[in-house]
Amino acid sequence: MTVRTRIAPSPTGDPHVGTAYIALFNLCFARQHGGKFILRIEDTDQTRSTSESEQDILNALRWLGLEWDEGPDIGGPYAPYRQSERKEMYRGYADTLVEKGHAFYCFRTPEELEVIRQERVAAGLNPGIKGDLELPADEVAKRLSAGDPYVIRMKVPDEGVCVINDMLRGTIEIEWSQVDCQVLLKSDGMPTYHLANVVDDHLMAITHVIRGEEWISSAPKHHLLYQYFGWEMPTLCHMPLLRNPDKSKLSKRKNPTSINYYDRAGYMPEAVLNYLGRMGWSMPDEKEKFSLEEMIANFDLSRVSLGGPIFDVEKLGWLNGLWIRENLSDAQFAERVQTWAFNHAFIAPMIPHIKGRVSTFSDIAPLAGFMFSGMLPLSKMDFAHAKLDEDQVKRVLQFSLWNLESQRQWTKEIIFSELKALSKIMGIKIGDFMAPIFVAMAGTSNSWSVVDSMEMIGPDMTRARLRHAVLTVLEGFSKKETKRVEKEYQEICSQRAES
Ligand code: GLU
Repeated sequence: MTVRTRIAPSPTGDPHVGTAYIALFNLCFARQHGGKFILRIEDTDQTRSTSESEQDILNALRWLGLEWDEGPDIGGPYAPYRQSERKEMYRGYADTLVEKGHAFYCFRTPEELEVIRQERVAAGLNPGIKGDLELPADEVAKRLSAGDPYVIRMKVPDEGVCVINDMLRGTIEIEWSQVDCQVLLKSDGMPTYHLANVVDDHLMAITHVIRGEEWISSAPKHHLLYQYFGWEMPTLCHMPLLRNPDKSKLSKRKNPTSINYYDRAGYMPEAVLNYLGRMGWSMPDEKEKFSLEEMIANFDLSRVSLGGPIFDVEKLGWLNGLWIRENLSDAQFAERVQTWAFNHAFIAPMIPHIKGRVSTFSDIAPLAGFMFSGMLPLSKMDFAHAKLDEDQVKRVLQFSLWNLESQRQWTKEIIFSELKALSKIMGIKIGDFMAPIFVAMAGTSNSWSVVDSMEMIGPDMTRARLRHAVLTVLEGFSKKETKRVEKEYQEICSQRAES
């Protein structure tokens, strides 16, 4: 048997460090066994998937030095590796399950399902949807010929226990009563994650599924699908979730989670990868600093410990320093810095803003230093505003951050029109509104156009600086305030949608 593992990201956002962490362990496991590591794009959620996000994920994984043997950009014997290009195929598998009596057509509207859920809760039952929704065959035929919209759901036992074997956790037992009749095919004909994932893992001959522990609850559904199709299930391994230093699930509220941030902030990819390798895993000699090659040579999945690994940016910074000091000669350091910042692509867009403001080249340093920085050393005083009080300043920053977090297209025109719309709804003059954003981004309100800086420095560093300003420098909101502020933002969004 050739070991085949995969990473199967959904391209719906920034390239997440969690994706790189799971990719790293899949790659090491495959290499250790002389197997193959596959990259598959799971873009069945067409409303949330974007090609920009896909490209970002591929670039970020490559930046880290993670290389796949088969994937959407390089092809391979099981192509295509993008689920949207395989979509015609899934329908047949869903139909087969209906024919075999393992799945059924469901015509219920979301409102009807909600009523059923509430009834189940009132009766003290699990609110999940169960097979009692299946209609008699003649009724189904009637509704189908009437062209009524439907989904296809898998059947799930009402009672008993599903036993899952996990390489790290041994046997996991989940009661079938907790598992709902999962939708396999949506009303638009697209498969859900569960159907597409199982079909593709089978067709792509995946032998080991190494993924995050948040997928454990999906395992019974997958287990049943393999059984219904009569296919052998790959061996499962659910890795522990990455955590913030306070042990909560890793979140961008507390840590930058986009790999691109670490690139823009000047980390060495080797160090980031090394740090991800330390997440729940250790070298036999416990040494902290090791390369990907060393990790592969010493890899042993059973050395993964299940206590939630802490992703701590300070620790990563320390490790990065070690890598810089011990692994880069002065010449290599110079070369790295040059490619990172003093390269034409990064500098050229700044020049039109700089040229009119300097009389010597050396004036560049104070003027453009913020473009080459990570987090800026700011204090509350820097955000003092002639017209806005601290609460308003915090709201300006927080609402701008939430808005920009949801932007997938990153151009100065879009950034400006979004911020302008926000300022209008908040009733704040655009000049006053932009002042705190200038400070968060450039350290001063006396800089060139801040939306140009945001475009140049990219979405991840922009968001990280806004987050740093509101949550760290201005100390964020209390729990109670957070609820209120979130509600205010919802209202702004709905006002926006109406106008
Ligand atoms: N598309 C899923 C994700 O976004 C893949 C989960 C799995 O590995 O099965 O993580």
